[in-house]
Amino acid sequence: MTAARARIAVVAALALAGGGACSRSEAPAAVPAVAPPCVPTTLTAPASEPAATAAPGATSPDDRPPEAAPKAGRLALRFEPTEHRKLDALTREVGGSDLLAQVTRDIDRAVALPKDVALVFADCGTDNAFYDDENATVTMCWELMGSMRDNMRREYRDPRDARDALYGAALFTLIHELGHAYVDLLDLPITGKEEDAVDQLATFMLVDSGDSGVEMALDGALSFVHDAEAEAQEAGEDAEPATWDEHATSEQRFFNVICWIYGSDPAAHSDLLESHGGALPDERADLCPDEWRRLSRAWTTLLAPFGR
Ligand SMILES: [Zn+2]
Repeated sequence: MTAARARIAVVAALALAGGGACSRSEAPAAVPAVAPPCVPTTLTAPASEPAATAAPGATSPDDRPPEAAPKAGRLALRFEPTEHRKLDALTREVGGSDLLAQVTRDIDRAVALPKDVALVFADCGTDNAFYDDENATVTMCWELMGSMRDNMRREYRDPRDARDALYGAALFTLIHELGHAYVDLLDLPITGKEEDAVDQLATFMLVDSGDSGVEMALDGALSFVHDAEAEAQEAGEDAEPATWDEHATSEQRFFNVICWIYGSDPAAHSDLLESHGGALPDERADLCPDEWRRLSRAWTTLLAPFGR
């Protein structure tokens, strides 16, 4: 059992109200914890359509002036400096890491966007991440990265484990925000809450990429536990949950993600079940394999026309 799994196992008992530090030392040694996940193999470009037959009398394609092929947009990762001195080391570490650049390149190779999308790490004055449709920019706030770093340091005794967990949670968030860009720029006909749909995309892309991606998705789930803890602290334990919000509650997002991870391979992830000491109630778990099948098919189908 890895630390994220161990942590998720105690979450149920603690009713999302916090817990002690744990070690990631049980992580399988063969799986580098920050190995970049590959792009889902299911998100490959479809075979190109055969050329349409010209109507009788139409100008031969050879007689027409050549049209420039539409230029596909690119993802552009950018790291801006921070004004928060306590985040200086973090910005140097994250900005100098190959992991985010590699994952961005892999995702970029899989999906062609109609315009460039900037992925910017910058100061925002708040712990957040968001997609701005006016300028096609995903912003990951350094303040959010700082909170995630601090939370994961409390979670994991080994600094390397804490760093790996930070990258896992950050990538989950980055892909979630990129999902908003896909929905906007590709005009994807999603149904239901967009926030749930892009949580599905983040889980799908990470889990589908292999074992290290599963660990990252688990760390993404863990960050929802931290969000729930912070929200409870801020609003008071007795505060009403924001049921009107476009997001599901942080607790619901946590259970959704571990449900989908479990559903992707119930035999491999049975330790997530409540009956096996995990956090996922067995009643929900019964539905998870179908939820996973539907969401993976939905995202594969939605993105297939936009493969490079
Ligand atoms: Zn969102």
